Amino acid sequence: MTLFVAKLIWGLGCIAYYIIRYPHQRRARKTPVADRRERIREQTLMAISYTGLFVVPLIYVLTDQPKFADYAFHPVRAWLGTFILIAGMALLHRTHRDLGRAWSITLEVRQQHALVTRGIYEKLRHPMYASFWLWAISQALLLPNWIAGLSGIVGFGTLFFARVGHEERMMLETFGDEYRAYMARTYRLIPGIY
Ligand code: SAH
Repeated sequence: MTLFVAKLIWGLGCIAYYIIRYPHQRRARKTPVADRRERIREQTLMAISYTGLFVVPLIYVLTDQPKFADYAFHPVRAWLGTFILIAGMALLHRTHRDLGRAWSITLEVRQQHALVTRGIYEKLRHPMYASFWLWAISQALLLPNWIAGLSGIVGFGTLFFARVGHEERMMLETFGDEYRAYMARTYRLIPGIY
């Protein structure tokens, strides 16, 4: 494993993300929305996350900037990052399959929105966000640069912590006791821990 290969793997991760998400994004455009929350706030959080997970690392991969933040490349870290990236993309694929038409890129409730509590959602409430955490961690392991490596964790972390409580409140308002009972028997991201 060389730095060049690690950068290439990071790029392949981005391509995998688009391939996994594309059919769901197309279908989502055609699925009517019943309730849309905090549009400006949501768009801002999405922009912060996109900048951290994509724009900043892309600049680094293409131009090697910002050079002052570089540290030594280590192949073992990059291999670990590769496995975590593959796990993250597999999880992203699985969550899209289980969530189906209920998926939205922002906080929205669809018309005829069914609460999903099966498949991977049986144990976790936010497995798709877990897959983004894995992606952000893999970025930190693949790119040996304090800014480009950590920007995904900062960017996605901002979106996650600002959104997750609002999302659960929206689900409680929409599904009431059904979601309350679901919350009582599930964890947010890590089974048994959080
Ligand atoms: N937070 C979830 C889903 C992310 S997509 C995860 O990380 O896996 C965000 C949208 O999914 C929200 O707008 C909400 O409408 C919908 N959603 C979240 N949890 C859901 C569930 N258990 N069943 C159905 N829809 C859900």
